[in-house]
Amino acid sequence: MKAYISPTHDAVWTGNAMIRGVLKPHHDRAERSIEILAALRDDLKLDCINVQRAAQRPSEMLEVHAPDYLQYLETAWEAWSQAPDASFEIRPYIAVNRYFPDLRTRTPVVMAGHYLGDGGTPIVKDAWSNMAGSVDTAIEAAQALIEGAESAYALLRPAGHHAMRDMGLGGCLIANTAIAVQRLSRQLGRVAVLDIDVHHGNGSQQIFYDRDDVLTISLHGKPEVLFPFLSGYADELGTGAGEGFNLNLPLEPGTELSVYLKDFDKALQRIQDFAPNALVIATGYDTFRHDPFGNICIDTADYRVLGDRIAQLKLPTLFVQEGGYKVDTLRSNVCALLEGFLGR
Ligand SMILES: [Zn+2]
Repeated sequence: MKAYISPTHDAVWTGNAMIRGVLKPHHDRAERSIEILAALRDDLKLDCINVQRAAQRPSEMLEVHAPDYLQYLETAWEAWSQAPDASFEIRPYIAVNRYFPDLRTRTPVVMAGHYLGDGGTPIVKDAWSNMAGSVDTAIEAAQALIEGAESAYALLRPAGHHAMRDMGLGGCLIANTAIAVQRLSRQLGRVAVLDIDVHHGNGSQQIFYDRDDVLTISLHGKPEVLFPFLSGYADELGTGAGEGFNLNLPLEPGTELSVYLKDFDKALQRIQDFAPNALVIATGYDTFRHDPFGNICIDTADYRVLGDRIAQLKLPTLFVQEGGYKVDTLRSNVCALLEGFLGR
């Protein structure tokens, strides 16, 4: 396995997140990536490739995201920052809503409410550059699978599985995992996504909801009590040709490994039945027992079990970095997952 390291994986940015009404320094800190890289490079001794910036944005970005949304992301901070009293970060404080559904003006304040779905997804000065680094990394790692690699790990930041076709959410602006999936599906045919982040992978779900060539599965804390609250329910099955190709497995708060594995094995069985040509793991470690943003009780040693079972599918497998916020245990959790996967 090779690891692909984003040129912006350890970018320091000063965004904040609004959580239960409290503005806090954003939880997606550079230290997360530094710990994960230490696991990949120093502990697991993986060949780590420093991804170079691509000259052009990959076409899959436009296949996954709406053109107007990409245009907004690229230009938003510049437009916002021209106001003399503007904050150093874009955060919506008025939203297009059920009473005011029309964009009567395109002033930056309104556009922020149109394209950003919560208070935890700020756009800062370097956001577009950081996003581009994530996308280039996801694409290069996907390309390695297309060229015959058995597995690859994409270490990137910011994460992407909450980003929707034309809306940022949950700290995610660009759907890196979905973009990698799109590249793989164009080249290899059927692809399965298994999202093991503790939060529902609502972006991947939405982007592939009407497709039968991409199977999306998410195991996550039940959304009645955990972000993103408004999606991730078991009755969301897909639509049109995609009906039956989305599977949500919501878990009770406090779920331990023995119960987790029942749904995890259901997911693996569904993937086996789908017989994909590649598997993408949306890799979050916020299922960890002490993660500040999770509510599931997976322990470090348990990740080895998950990795081992993923390996038993014997599929070309791409791990794309998503969440995980208990910084001082990220290194050991990454090691456990990949040691299990690699049979070490
Ligand atoms: Zn998460």
